[in-house]
Amino acid sequence: MEENGSWSNVIKAIHWTPRACMPVPKKNGFPGTWAGGDCKNGFHQLQYQPESFHPRCCWEWKRIRFWVDTWLGTVPLKCRFPGLFAIIRHKGSKVADCFNRNGDLLVWDWSWIRTPTSNSERIEIQECHSLLRSIRITDMEDSWFWSADTNGLFSVRSVRRLLKSQSMVNYLSPYEWNNWVPIKVNVFGWKAQLQRIVTKTALLRRNVHTGCTVCPFCLDIDETINHLLIYCLKTDMVWQHIASWCKLPPFFAFSINDVLSYHSSLAQDKRRTKLVQAIFRVTLWCIWRARNDMIFNGVNASHTQIVENIKIQSYIWVVSRSKKNVIDWNSW
Ligand SMILES: [Zn+2]
Repeated sequence: MEENGSWSNVIKAIHWTPRACMPVPKKNGFPGTWAGGDCKNGFHQLQYQPESFHPRCCWEWKRIRFWVDTWLGTVPLKCRFPGLFAIIRHKGSKVADCFNRNGDLLVWDWSWIRTPTSNSERIEIQECHSLLRSIRITDMEDSWFWSADTNGLFSVRSVRRLLKSQSMVNYLSPYEWNNWVPIKVNVFGWKAQLQRIVTKTALLRRNVHTGCTVCPFCLDIDETINHLLIYCLKTDMVWQHIASWCKLPPFFAFSINDVLSYHSSLAQDKRRTKLVQAIFRVTLWCIWRARNDMIFNGVNASHTQIVENIKIQSYIWVVSRSKKNVIDWNSW
């Protein structure tokens, strides 16, 4: 964003005040995109430091705010020296207002509400002075650069690239379609991955009250997607049986994504991994069907009955959909 560009002017007109103490200006009462939190926290949640907006070089210091902007080190000086910031008179003062030149020497001088007297304040002053020793003044123009892009210019594309490069937005691996199971089973797995299954707690979040929100299997824990499909005692027994039936080691998952991507960790041939993927999808589907049967039809299937159902369903679907899987029921 250009400093004097249209967007910059719009943001300044809406959010900037002479007393603004945020690196990115934001008016708290403004009901806009940033309402209810500040963008800096948003960046932190994304594990990204907005301090990537660094000044490129050291200029006339007329536009950089000494305490508020990040220009020396990786955090604003107000965060590094909170004791001093509390007693500084002009919190938005520019760097150029904080020193006098004595030949090549810079003499730092701040306007205080009261003289720093406590031990901690003196220590902060000393540290601040030693930090400032590295500063050299040139006559170049002030400028900012966006360190996430080599050209220094901010762009939505560079933010997207930056976020993509950090693992926090890659928590969902692409959903793989498996054509050995019906579309409804694939779609169910996909919706589970997106946490879009209508469990009781999901309904409650949308203000749909269904009475009790506990899991119908164990009647103990709230029915969330992860609990119902992975953690519940009954579900866990189903998974262990399925793992042992597929000749896999004991199966432990922490999320639906673990279930959906488990096949890719197997060092086995393509057909076998696809088969495991299909069976795991059918397992999710059958657990959900058993849950619905229990709630709507009062049928309380045991974990062995659910496992049997998974074996039958997966056999019917896989054999009928895969031309090469000519296998009889006894070998299944
Ligand atoms: Zn449960």
